[in-house]
Amino acid sequence: MTFRADRHVHILIIGGGAIGTSVAYHLARDGAKDVLLVEKAMLTHGCTWHAAGLVGQLRGKRNLTRLMQNSVAVFDRLEEETGQHIAWKKVGSLRLAGSPERWSEIRRSMTQAKSFGVECYSLSADEAAGRFPYIVKDGIEGAAFIPGDGYIDPYSLTMAYAKGARMNGARIEEGVTVEEIVIENRRVVGVATNGETISCDILVNCAGLWAKRVGEMAGVALAAGVVEHQYFLTEKKLTLPPDLTTLRDPDNNFYLKPDTGSFAIGGWEDGSKGCWRGKPPVDFGRELFEPNWERLELFALPAASRIPALNEIGIQTVINGPIPVSFDGEPIMGLAPELDNFYVACGFTAGIAASGGAGLALSNLILHGDAGMDLWPFDVRRFGKVHAQGRYLEERAIEAYGAYYKVHWPGEEAQAVRGLRRSPLHDAMAKSGAVFGSKFGWERPNWFAPAGTEAKDIPSFEGKPSWFDAVGNEVKAIRERAALIDQSSFSKFEISGSGALAAMQRIAANDLSGPPGKAVYTQLCNERGGIEADVTIVHLADNLLYLITGSGFGVRDSNWISRHLPEGIRLRDVTNRFATLNICGPRARDILQSVSDDDLSNAAFPFLAARHIEIGAATALAVRIGYVGELGYELYIEQDYAAHVYDTLKAAGAPFGIADAGYRAIDAARMEKGYLYWSGDITPDYNPYEAGLGFCVALDKEDFIGRDALTDIKAKGVTRKLVSYTVNGFAPFHGGEAVIYNGKVVGSTASTGYGYTLGKTIAFGYLPTEIAAHEDFEIEAFGKTYRARRGARTLYDAKMERLKA
Ligand SMILES: Cc1cc2nc3c(=O)[nH]c(=O)nc-3n(C[C@H](O)[C@H](O)[C@H](O)COP(=O)(O)OP(=O)(O)OC[C@H]3O[C@@H](n4cnc5c(N)ncnc54)[C@H](O)[C@@H]3O)c2cc1C
Repeated sequence: MTFRADRHVHILIIGGGAIGTSVAYHLARDGAKDVLLVEKAMLTHGCTWHAAGLVGQLRGKRNLTRLMQNSVAVFDRLEEETGQHIAWKKVGSLRLAGSPERWSEIRRSMTQAKSFGVECYSLSADEAAGRFPYIVKDGIEGAAFIPGDGYIDPYSLTMAYAKGARMNGARIEEGVTVEEIVIENRRVVGVATNGETISCDILVNCAGLWAKRVGEMAGVALAAGVVEHQYFLTEKKLTLPPDLTTLRDPDNNFYLKPDTGSFAIGGWEDGSKGCWRGKPPVDFGRELFEPNWERLELFALPAASRIPALNEIGIQTVINGPIPVSFDGEPIMGLAPELDNFYVACGFTAGIAASGGAGLALSNLILHGDAGMDLWPFDVRRFGKVHAQGRYLEERAIEAYGAYYKVHWPGEEAQAVRGLRRSPLHDAMAKSGAVFGSKFGWERPNWFAPAGTEAKDIPSFEGKPSWFDAVGNEVKAIRERAALIDQSSFSKFEISGSGALAAMQRIAANDLSGPPGKAVYTQLCNERGGIEADVTIVHLADNLLYLITGSGFGVRDSNWISRHLPEGIRLRDVTNRFATLNICGPRARDILQSVSDDDLSNAAFPFLAARHIEIGAATALAVRIGYVGELGYELYIEQDYAAHVYDTLKAAGAPFGIADAGYRAIDAARMEKGYLYWSGDITPDYNPYEAGLGFCVALDKEDFIGRDALTDIKAKGVTRKLVSYTVNGFAPFHGGEAVIYNGKVVGSTASTGYGYTLGKTIAFGYLPTEIAAHEDFEIEAFGKTYRARRGARTLYDAKMERLKA
């Protein structure tokens, strides 16, 4: 190490807001030694001081509900533990549903929340008005009451974390600004501040509003934006009961906290103002912005329609301050992929409510390598540089902010900054009627609207969405004729150098050996046998492999691989170099053969074979594999040749009835085939044996990561198992539904979808092995139970006859 610092600490935390102090508290409480938190101004002088302090656990995403639930557990004990008053008012919260769709959404969140023990109750409009008598009941379809919610004083909470941290040996220094971060060999070695230089073993970025700026000091691109957020305090003219509950009325776009004799009311309006492209000036501190009355009206007027008393009392104060909002509105946590010792906890839009859970999860991750809960929806590796670009981030953050209280429809797509990354086939797809979704900045065809059908997503909670029949036709083409699917957004990597095969053999659970020209489906496991990634590896030569993974998993998976690759082996992202076209279906070979001079017969080019072939006047890498469970070829084509290949195949396929298909057809088809989705069905919390992927674990090959654990698991047997359920006809499942056996909840659903070929709704989910052999279950959705039959793990072509034909 060449960096010579004035002093050394083990763990250095930047930022003394609710999040940084909670991380310090949890680290120190768990025994971490030599923890220092530095704050450029004074504790709370970022976003934290002007927060309203509402604490709500019920969220659209189950993981965020979990994080909030863990926070409440911390708030419940913090005052007693530290002796610092935190003004935690556990008065509960009421969430109103002002439309049938909202009521569907709230009931769905309640089912999820209940599955891990959050207490919540359904109320009628009358019962809701009984709990909060100031509302008019017009249009209320129902309400959720969560007794464990409430509000807290953000300043006192931060001081309590700080006190608890100090009581456990951590140090906190105010007036210390980190100005520079020094990196050597992928590691932060220390920082330069406005005073001393400090070296450290681990650096934690909890810089809140300034997190993107601090990330840039370390060369880490964070998609953490900042926008304006307002709430107002009414005049103190009300006599309120001391235990009056908090209120959220998302259809009227406002939240409410009772204050002494007044209400604090805020909202999430469309078209908020982005601030400083996510990078506030370093000397910005406790300043507020001027009130924006026009935007305030967007939630103040609807609030007055729900609470007529507001028409009689004036506004006393408006707080308009900057608030962190990430590109997708979710927090950003974890170990940054660019470095080996730089952790992040930022982008919190409800960072007071989330602080306890977030501090605990990050501390667990730093000290034990495991957050203790699935952090993927917040993972710093879920985005890439594309999301951190200034204007992109700002527009997406404004959209995510405005969507905070909108109904979150199943399958909905972001609308801001569309069309950023386009495959060379984009225009051809658009001409064929593609309705696009967006992933990692890419436009991707989700489905194709047939003539006469509106090319528009109209999602639904309890009914069939607008794309239902069109996707059914695409699946029919895949199963009966042939289809072309533009999969260019798939993340693709080249692994090269002498010893590349041996290196990947150590990382992959499956066996990659044998003669080149073969694709291998494999998991990349951790030392516990948990599934870190689910990928296809193409063995092209012993010094050249090709790895394919999902569009959203490239950063995460390449980071996992590069952390385990030995020196000298090169991992290169080639996503942008190759377009990917999938030709699949029983006639796929006939069509491809008609435009290629290469021998594509089953004998010459069997299932899993991979080689370069000619297609029309172009050449592509063809891999006989696919995610839809039919005879098919994934074609990796240099970008500039892709349109030629597509046109050639489309023309050659016309007599065979070839169709375009999109991602929703892939998803429906893969459910029938029992193919899994990483993050939904498999995660680091599950091992291949539990997921029915034991056939991908080559215990008899040389050592690989997770081998010992997997050997042990196989010998002892698993205690839970992934199974598939079917329900006759259509059922409105979206994942996270409760699975019931003999009247008892025994699990929840993971991926769900409609199997068009089977005419059944399909759900995957884990069950304890002792009941996994039973066949009759029930699945509950939107308060209704459906008879679900536990069936074979693979419901379509279980013998692989079609795939290998
Ligand atoms: C009007 C308003 C109302 C809100 N209401 C609620 C609510 O009701 N409930 C809720 O849960 N959330 C609410 N929030 C959001 C909440 O305030 C934030 O999510 C939370 O404060 C974020 O905390 P933090 O610790 O991540 O960031 P911050 O509070 O911004 O803390 C970051 C700290 O890092 C320090 N720092 C930055 N750069 C450096 C550096 N280079 N060196 C040293 N120190 C540095 C800063 O000075 C700052 O103190 C509200 C926000 C606003 C604007």
